[in-house]
Order: sequence, then C-alpha cells, then structure tokens
Amino acid sequence: ADLREKMQAVIEKGGHPIYVLATLGTTDSFGIDDLAGIKKVTEEIEDAYGLPPVYIHADTAMGGMYSFFNEYDFSGNPLHLEDHVLETLARYKKHFQHLHLADSLVFDFHKLGQTPYITSLFLVKNREALKAVDLDPDETPYVGNRGFGSYHTSYTLECSRMGSSIPIYASLLAFGIEGYQEILANYIRVNLAFRKKLLQAFPNAAVTNDVSPVTTFRFYPGNVRYHEEISGAITEEEVRNINKFNEKIAETLGRYRTHTYFGSTKKQTYVYPADSRLPVPLYVQKFYSVSPYTTVETIDQFIAFLKAHVEPSDVAAG
Ligand SMILES: *Cc1c(COP(=O)(O)O)cnc(C)c1O
Repeated sequence: ADLREKMQAVIEKGGHPIYVLATLGTTDSFGIDDLAGIKKVTEEIEDAYGLPPVYIHADTAMGGMYSFFNEYDFSGNPLHLEDHVLETLARYKKHFQHLHLADSLVFDFHKLGQTPYITSLFLVKNREALKAVDLDPDETPYVGNRGFGSYHTSYTLECSRMGSSIPIYASLLAFGIEGYQEILANYIRVNLAFRKKLLQAFPNAAVTNDVSPVTTFRFYPGNVRYHEEISGAITEEEVRNINKFNEKIAETLGRYRTHTYFGSTKKQTYVYPADSRLPVPLYVQKFYSVSPYTTVETIDQFIAFLKAHVEPSDVAAG
C-alpha cells in the first residue's frame, strides 16, 4: 500500500516511476520483500496511468541462493531435512519462487556460496536493459582514453572490477544443486540450534530477527524488554541505555575476535518509543557462519565463548 501511494505521489507531481528496488534477504536481518506483491502494484500503476513497464531490480545478493530450493520436493524430502529446517525453507520458497518476475537479480556467491570475495553474479532478463548503464569511453577517461588493450570500459557494472565468474562456475559444477541445498539447509539448521541454545544460556537475551542464515540478538541489563521495544511501550532513554549496554558487550567480544568473531550492527531495525518523535535504531549482536564445518555439534563452543566474555562482568555489573 505504501509503495502504491509513493508511486502515485510521484506521478501526480508530473514524475515517472522508473524502477523499484526490492530486497530479498537484507544483509543484517534477512528481511524479505514481497516481490510478487511489488510486481502486482507496478502493473496496476502502469495500467492506471498508461506507463511503460516499471523496471524491478531484486537485490537477492544474500538471499537469492535459497532459490536452489525452488525445485526441491518438499513432500518427498529426498535430503531427509528435519521438519523445522524444512519449514523455514518452505517459507523462503513462497518468496524466491517469484524471482523470475524481476528484471534483474544479483547473487553473491561470496556470501553463502563458498567462493572468494570477488565473485558476484548479476543477471539481467533482457540484455538490452544493460545499455541504460553503459558508459561511453569519454565518460571514463581514466581507463577509456589511450587504453592499449581491448578494454571495454563498461565491462562490468563497476567499470574496473573484474568479471570473475570462473569460481562461481567451478563451484556450481563441484557442488551441484543438491550440494548447494545441503550447504544452505545446514546454515538454517545451525542457526536454529544457535538460537535455542542462546536463549537457554542467557535469560537476558532476545533474538531480533526471523529464522535465517543470520541470527541477530540483543542483551538486556535486567529483564528482556524486546516486546516493549517493538511495541513502543518503553522510553527512548531506556532503549538508548540498552543500546549502550550492547555496544559495550560488542567491544568486549571484539577484543577476542581472533578466537571467535561475532558481528554487530548499530542499526538492525528501528523502534518507536512512547516518548520519542523519531525512530530509534536497535544495536544488536550478530551470528553469521558460512563454513560447512560449522555444524550443530560446534554450537556449544560459541555459547561457551559468549558465556566467558559476556556474563561475568557485564551482566552482573548491569
Ligand atoms: C552484501 C550485499 C550487497 C553488496 O554486495 P557486494 O558483492 O558485497 O558488493 C548488496 N545487497 C545485499 C542484500 C547484500 O547482502
């Protein structure tokens, strides 16, 4: 509804909605936009105002890998995945089965796909569309003028960034669809186990995102107040104090990062405290593991690490 409203507002001011950027799997909390719903809205708007098709880019950099399950037989379950893992994957399929509706997609194999950091795949449905971002050599004099090799300046989206597809191709051949399904299902299995053990070990912790390959969580100096935070039944000062508490923990954990590295972010989501006119960001810790060797059996050592570095000083002092 909000997207429709915003596009109508643009049109009524004489503007033209050019494109919509949907994110399917945000980096920190794995939030997933409703691509089919977005497509429906853009088509309604096109019809109502007689506009050419509105371009849709789906940023599937992180989440797109889960389209490996679009063809999975969920009832036969040939990989014998556990029910709770299967449930999450089925929820994803509801979204990722619509990826074909996007005009372009991106897959960061370097995130969940076991390849080196430089390997991303950009897919465009109609290659003519790519000409819209093509650069004239005159616009890139630093590489375009007096280039001695055959160097097309618009070779990749980022101009001088190499198009490194070989590791992606090699990995696709090595793992196959089934191999990727095993790897991707394991991230979910590991995160489900981590969440469970975290909440058992820390009565003062809350998990702040849906089940996904990433777990974001937050510690409280006393009782868990997450529900009050997201429902606005808390003051701004209280939220900011809990943020500070988490910042201190993140700093402590960071000192031991050569042993185990937990990420953190100062803006996982916004909350709307009762006495605040502006939204306040939540500061959270982040568990993100992409090694196939990180299995459910290894979770206890991460919990022990948190126990060793979070509880004694911070929680007692808090
Ligand atoms: C990581 C990420 C990006 C950035 O991709 P890079 O290949 O690291 O430049 C874009 N969008 C999302 C959702 C991501 O998770």
